[in-house]
Amino acid sequence: MHTKMLDFAFFEGQVIPFADANISIGTHCVQYGTGAFAGIRGYLDDSGETVNIFRLADHARRLLNSARLLRMELPYTPSDVERIITGLVEQNGHLGDIYIRPFIYKPAVQLTPRLRGIGDELAVYMMPMGDYLSLDRGQKALVSSWFRIPDNAIPSRGKLSGAYVNSAFAKDEAEEKGADEAIMLNTMGKIAEGSGCNLFMVRNGVLTTPPFSSDILEGITRRSVLAMAADAGIPSEVREIDRTELYLADEAFFCGTGVQIAWIESIDGRTVGNGARGPITQQVQTRFFDTVRGRDTMYGDWLTKVRVPEVAAVS
Ligand code: PMP
Repeated sequence: MHTKMLDFAFFEGQVIPFADANISIGTHCVQYGTGAFAGIRGYLDDSGETVNIFRLADHARRLLNSARLLRMELPYTPSDVERIITGLVEQNGHLGDIYIRPFIYKPAVQLTPRLRGIGDELAVYMMPMGDYLSLDRGQKALVSSWFRIPDNAIPSRGKLSGAYVNSAFAKDEAEEKGADEAIMLNTMGKIAEGSGCNLFMVRNGVLTTPPFSSDILEGITRRSVLAMAADAGIPSEVREIDRTELYLADEAFFCGTGVQIAWIESIDGRTVGNGARGPITQQVQTRFFDTVRGRDTMYGDWLTKVRVPEVAAVS
């Protein structure tokens, strides 16, 4: 799948055409995966007047935390990153749903796989994006034979480029076996997360998700779901989950910036609940989409509303 990128990118301290934002094949990050990135969505507001960037401040903070794990030193604060992103959204002039990819990387052409003292850069690019997984039908999930990388190998809590080889192993296996998405166990054999998303189950009316110590990304959608559940009076629990508990769950769903809220129909060929979208999943999904589209203002402070002057495409 080749996605058409929007015209402008932030690269080496300035906004330039995406087509010119290129790095060398010898780059440390390309060779060793020494990059940290974010994935952020912007949603067209129901009014048609703004692009609503979901939890931009939280994404900027997590991006810089991921960069800290890689001992990166940058001249940017989280609010600088926010300003760069909102400026680029305006400049790209796409009044529609978008996906924003900020990326911090080690640009040196350098052979030693180390983190310290080799310099860092920030780049941002973006593209139009609709749903990544289908939201109308249920997802078929498969418990992967690939373990989620443990914290003391490569930390899953941050979005580190090289770690996504682990996700790619699991995603390929799931798709080749006829499923949509993988569920990875950690090296202790407990449920961790999907290849590019966090996971929730509902059992006996309790919304349950694994803790950070289960080797999962510190997911921003996950945190949002927990907050929405608390406000809606849905009991929730953050605790370790066994594989076979998922087989007994009444509902399960993936969540993340890309997948949004995607309900799971089966796990390892076993139907989840009665094989339909469950009531708690439905409630969370409705609240989430009403929020990002600007219909429900209860979580209005999660949105950075950018007025986007529509401009003609340069290409
Ligand atoms: N886990 C992994 C491995 C991911 O790549 C993602 C997507 N960023 C998530 C979880 C969900 O995180 P978020 O809700 O912050 O997008």
